[in-house]
Amino acid sequence: MWEIRDDEAAVITGKFDTNRGFAIDLSHVTISGCCVGCRR
Ligand SMILES: [Zn+2]
Repeated sequence: MWEIRDDEAAVITGKFDTNRGFAIDLSHVTISGCCVGCRR
């Protein structure tokens, strides 16, 4: 597990806020996907 950086979080929360008027609670959000190791 790792945490996204503040600048990355700002991009994500900013997009949702702008596009959807949705305020993300980052303390409860989980982003699933593939890390660099998985993608090889
Ligand atoms: Zn991975």
